[in-house]
Amino acid sequence: MLSWIQKRGTSEHRAGLETPLQGPEQRYWFVWDPLGIVCAIATWTLMMSAAWILIRDLFIPSKNVFYAVANGVLFHLLASLALVSHLRTMLTDPGSVPLRSRPGPDTVSFCSLCLSAVPERAYHCIVCGRCIRKNDHHCPWVNNCVGEDNQKYFLLFTLFTGLVSIHVLLLLGIPFLRSPVWREWNANSTVTPRSPILFLFLVALMGFLFALVMLCSQMCSICTDKTTTETLYQNKRSLERRSVWSNV
Ligand SMILES: [Zn+2]
Ligand SMILES: [Zn+2]
Repeated sequence: MLSWIQKRGTSEHRAGLETPLQGPEQRYWFVWDPLGIVCAIATWTLMMSAAWILIRDLFIPSKNVFYAVANGVLFHLLASLALVSHLRTMLTDPGSVPLRSRPGPDTVSFCSLCLSAVPERAYHCIVCGRCIRKNDHHCPWVNNCVGEDNQKYFLLFTLFTGLVSIHVLLLLGIPFLRSPVWREWNANSTVTPRSPILFLFLVALMGFLFALVMLCSQMCSICTDKTTTETLYQNKRSLERRSVWSNV
């Protein structure tokens, strides 16, 4: 897969590599992976559909203006923060090693795929086609690797996705549990929620579960200073021993 580098001089310069990126200067990072692009578009579509159903079926029919405005503002704030974090995760260089870089002080091996000297804790991603520093995993939902330079945005994306999902689940769950429909439904009646509301509930539940799993795994990875790749495939971690707080 093709990938482009943006912001040359981010991770590589901070890490003090002596060999800068070679070849023509490239300023943008975007991974041209069809599956990743479809998943990223699906993420945005689900969020936009949820907003549309909420406004049409919950906020506009509501007789309580304060309830509709306050919840509308809160939902759109959280959803916007989640989408901005998603964009930043997708379009930020996750910490790619410069192509054809020469060995530096932290070089541990050589990658024959991107012809680069590989620094410690960098792993090659076949989707991005590059070696990525502290490569945690490649996430198709953000169409990018989660690495040293974009993990913060990914963490924020999962956090805001979790919060907006909880907000939607509460908006749907509280009135439903307080309504007579619940008692009827509980008694095995044929009453079922309308399709858009059911769809909204499933999207929110999916978002919540995704956020819960990813947030827990990312926080574990940060606190132990061990990426998911290292946890799954290697019993390896940074030689530098630091406290949990310093890792965070
Ligand atoms: Zn490589
Ligand atoms: Zn990748």
